Order: sequence, then structure tokens, then C-alpha cells
Amino acid sequence: MTASVIVVIASLLVADRACGFCETPPPPKDHLKLQENVTSRIRTFSGLKPIASQADAMLSKLLSAKSPVILGWIEKRDLATKADDEIVREWREYYARNFILNRYPQADAPVNAAIEALFKDVNDAFATPAFRAKMSSLFEKSKATALSVLAKQPLQDAEKKAIVARVGAVQLYWMKDFKSSKFKAQPLEFLDWGIAYDPVANEINMGVNALSYPNDETYLAVFAHELGHAFDSCRWGAFFEGAWPFQKVGECLRGQDSAGALKRDDSQLEVLQKQGKLSSDLAVGLKQNPTCNKAVYPPIGTQADQLPESFADWFSTETMASMEGLNLLQMRLDLCVLRELVAGSSYPENRKRLDQIYFAHPKLRPGRSDLKSKSAVYCGF
Ligand SMILES: [Zn+2]
Repeated sequence: MTASVIVVIASLLVADRACGFCETPPPPKDHLKLQENVTSRIRTFSGLKPIASQADAMLSKLLSAKSPVILGWIEKRDLATKADDEIVREWREYYARNFILNRYPQADAPVNAAIEALFKDVNDAFATPAFRAKMSSLFEKSKATALSVLAKQPLQDAEKKAIVARVGAVQLYWMKDFKSSKFKAQPLEFLDWGIAYDPVANEINMGVNALSYPNDETYLAVFAHELGHAFDSCRWGAFFEGAWPFQKVGECLRGQDSAGALKRDDSQLEVLQKQGKLSSDLAVGLKQNPTCNKAVYPPIGTQADQLPESFADWFSTETMASMEGLNLLQMRLDLCVLRELVAGSSYPENRKRLDQIYFAHPKLRPGRSDLKSKSAVYCGF
């Protein structure tokens, strides 16, 4: 491809992003710096003797067996034409992440010590006192506004009390010591994820990508979205009594003029159960909670239910519309990216989330003359 063709394509991409939409600002410098830091630390870690020798042994075994898994791995990363030492280095890093970090603790004490040191270093660079203080203040503001929004919703007293109690109890979860943290069971959730609600602990996990958001308005909206997950259509069944009181909002979010939130595709449910890949307990639980998506169902490529994510965006919108003195056109600029979603994603596409949920709110819509769909319906309670 010639340079001029590349320029034309690049300008078309930029034009498409800017035209009728918004633009995500470049990632914050602190975030880029931390990403580099994490990459280089994992590179060093993956070169440690006990890890590198395990990785190399597995690589030569897979290569000599011409394993389709390893050939696919090489192809996916465009490594086929690369020098052997580059392939080995990439493989060691992959192996370190997925077979060493992910299986902590190992039988090898020095490897465990190296993992603990790696997480301590990354966490020291990530959760600085200044960043924690900033997040805590934005989170508290989001939570206080979310509680005031809930107070105004036409809910029955008992429901309101239960929701307010659960939302009011949500705390941010920061890793202190890796060894005793919840991330030791899923270390990659710390390294690869950002701000994510954990329903069992009723906490919002703070992973390394929490540094990636572009401005305060976006942080406030992201925290409000996570608080919405505390009582979304899926979690309601597990943590509350009676029918989900936001059914009407949910039906509206399913509509094409709103988010068009897709339903879970249950066509594989019985097949997988018959094949013994899904326990009957789990199948019953899934049928009782038709908007829940679990790790085992729906499988990748099969449509997940989009209502919990759409509802969390809706609650975030309600919360943001109640805040004064902010430049709300700045909020959720992280969603301006025209990202291709994996098939069956539990999220509606970014454009719909912004256009048909956030900026469909009558208070937030003015000023958004750039919106593609002029007829987005806002789902009132
Ligand atoms: Zn979410």
C-alpha cells in the first residue's frame, strides 16, 4: 500500500469518527506510561529462568507437533515472518500472563515471590495517593447523586430502602497486598481491566485501566454506570425480593428507538445441557434469570443479553442529568471509539449507548446537534 493511500484511508477514518459523532481524546499520559511500565515488567518477569524454561519447553513441544493452536497463535499476531527470538519473546510473555500469573500460587516459591513483587511494583505506580484521592472524591460524588436520584424514583418503600442500602454500601476496591487480595485469583482482572462492579462483594474493582478515562465527567458517569449494576435486571434476582421494579424502563431500552438491547439467545441452552457442558442447576438458574450472562453461557459468538449494560447506562444518565455545573458534553468520551464488538456482546454498540441512551435524555440532548438519530426515545421511569 502506498503512503498516499494510507493517508486517504486514515483521513476517512478520522472523518468518520468526527462526522456526526464525537472524538475520544488521546489516552492520558499517566495511563500510557503505566501501560509501558506493565509491559516492560512482564517482559522482565517472563525472562526469569524458571518461567522462560517452562515457556520454551512448551513452545518447542507445540511446534514439533505442528499444533494448530500454536500455528493460530503465530498467525493471529503476525509473527510468521518474524525472527525466532522475537517469536520466543512474545510467547514467553503470553505464557507468563496466561500460565504463570493466572495460576498463582505455583509450587515454586521464588516464582511466587517474583509475581508478588511484580504486582507490588505495578500497584505502587498505579494506585498513588493522588489518584486514589481523586477517584474517591469522584466516586463519592457519583454515589451521593445516585442516592438522591433513587430517592426521587417512584418506587415502593421497601424496594427503595433495599436499593438505597445496597447502593449506599458500595465501596471502591483497591488492591493492598497482592497475596491477600481478591485479584490473586484473577490477576489479569487487575492488569487488563479498569473500573468494574463485583456483585458478590458489592464493590467496584479498581484495575490498572482505571487510569485510561479522559476527564472527570467520564469518571462520574462510569462510576454511576457501575452503581446501576448493583440493582440491574440480572442482579435483582440474586440480591432483592419480588419483581424487578424497572421492568418498564427495561422494555423501553429493548426498543429500536432506544438502545435496541438484544435478548439472550437461549437456542444453545438445552443442547449444551444435554451434552453435559452445562449443569442442570445452572440451566435452571439461567432460565429463571433470562437477562443474566454467565461465564459458561451464552458461549462466545452466541448473543448475550444487553439489558444489564443498557440499564446501567440508563441509570448513569439519570445520575448525570442531576449534576449541576459540569460540561456534560464531555462525559463518556471513552465511548466515541467506533469499536467493533465481538459477536454476541453484552453491550449495544458504543454509538447507540451514547446516542440512544445517554444523549437521548431531554436535559442532555441540547447541544448535541451532531447526533445521528434525531428520534432517540428517552426511557423515563
Ligand atoms: Zn457495565
